[in-house]
Amino acid sequence: MMDKKSLRILLVEDAEFEAEITKRALSGCDFENSMTRVASGEDALSYLRREPGYEDVAMPHLVLLDLNLPRMTGRDVLREIRNDPSLAHLFVIICSASDEPSEVTKAYQATANAYITKPLGLGPLREMMNKVGDFLLNVVKIP
Ligand SMILES: [Mg+2]
Repeated sequence: MMDKKSLRILLVEDAEFEAEITKRALSGCDFENSMTRVASGEDALSYLRREPGYEDVAMPHLVLLDLNLPRMTGRDVLREIRNDPSLAHLFVIICSASDEPSEVTKAYQATANAYITKPLGLGPLREMMNKVGDFLLNVVKIP
């Protein structure tokens, strides 16, 4: 059961600019959160499996997973998460600049909990993150 006071978020994002704007959006959100960023799918899996370098990390309540990552795509990372019994429960949102219907479908086929087309700009992104936070903290139950 999560501590409802603060949402722990793992951001998997290779692009510095995208990571920075997401961090800024979250820091101004209406709900308490703490964000950690990793820059690749491989690092995300190492983090979640508490491999060397990540032994003491706390499990996130939410994984924000960029679709377009080098080597492993967001969908590849998601499949690894779902195939690992210790991680399979994680709430994973795939984030992309694309609103291509086939990409959306493929994300849900890979069992994303949600797919988000990231809005442009800090304000719209913060507004969207506030809705996500409200949904996760006040509407649904998450592990
Ligand atoms: Mg990317």
